[in-house]
Amino acid sequence: MNKLNQTNTTSRHSTSTKNSSSLASGQKMASTFSKPKTHPRENRRIGEPHLALANPSKATQELPKQAPALGNQITLTEFLKQQSLASNEIDQQRPTPPSSTQKAILQAKNLHKSYFKNKLEVSVLRGVDFAIETGEFVSIIGSSGSGKSTLLHLLGTLDEPDQGKIYFRSRRIDDLPSKKRDSIRSNDFGMIFQFYHLLPELTTLENVLTPAMISNSVFQYYRQKKKLVARAKELLELVGLSHRLKHKPRELSGGEMQRAAIARALISKPTLLLADEPTGNLDQKTGTEILSLLQHLNQEEKLTICMVTHDQQIAKETSRIVQLAEGKVQYEHYQ
Ligand code: ADP
Ligand code: MG
Repeated sequence: MNKLNQTNTTSRHSTSTKNSSSLASGQKMASTFSKPKTHPRENRRIGEPHLALANPSKATQELPKQAPALGNQITLTEFLKQQSLASNEIDQQRPTPPSSTQKAILQAKNLHKSYFKNKLEVSVLRGVDFAIETGEFVSIIGSSGSGKSTLLHLLGTLDEPDQGKIYFRSRRIDDLPSKKRDSIRSNDFGMIFQFYHLLPELTTLENVLTPAMISNSVFQYYRQKKKLVARAKELLELVGLSHRLKHKPRELSGGEMQRAAIARALISKPTLLLADEPTGNLDQKTGTEILSLLQHLNQEEKLTICMVTHDQQIAKETSRIVQLAEGKVQYEHYQ
């Protein structure tokens, strides 16, 4: 936590934050974020709880006028339930907002995906409609096996849907030739996973540089090496790992490995970070530190984040929760 606090508070960091504002996609994004964050479809700030959850008594003042007439056999609680204002299920009962907006950076339409196990078809996604807006920090929750990773892999073009379409900035990407999908993935998307996937023989610094090594020719890489190394060091400082540049993954803690993986995901200046259970392998305290780092990247570095998690407490800290169940988006809850 100290490292993160340091990163968040020192003036050195604020300089580095400004320098790395190119991190997400620079000035274009900055204008998007100069406005106060308000809920896109409701007149309340993101982060403010829904009226009915924040102050149930206030919510009851907004009840429709047709209160139950005296003598009716229902209790007030039942009446409130009927009005969808009485319990925490309120947001589950709210109609799902349309997942198609002008501001969507990534949009999935009617995604279907099945796997075959011993000739038996396992239908995982059965019509997922979902959009991520620029600047959001969305979490996708759902029980184990509900298809969260499958969805994230489709969104990140690591796999193809059987049916449905995926758009990145209004451009369809799911049907592009694999080379073009590779290029979108390495230039626009950053990815992190539960088990970090660092290369064991490389140092932290070298691991952060691997996407740049892969996406450039040897000549291009060596021509830009000085700049890339400087950027990798800057990112490692941003994630609180500047004191571990030469350590190999086995010499790092779980939280440190995830920090290194986050720095690696940012080396190509992505606009969207896709994270699959980034805290899933960490103890609660370390998980909270990684979450704080992601929140910092979202709020200060203007990085749009879509995070899969099974942890409700972690999900509650993001700006929107999307629940997957039975192969579909069951509900969306703006927080
Ligand atoms: P979650 O991330 O929500 O736990 P997954 O998306 O990993 O769920 O998996 C959803 C279902 O799809 C599970 O039943 C899983 O066994 C199955 N599945 C995932 N990937 C494959 C695969 N490559 N081949 C066969 N079945 C798979
Ligand atoms: Mg998973």
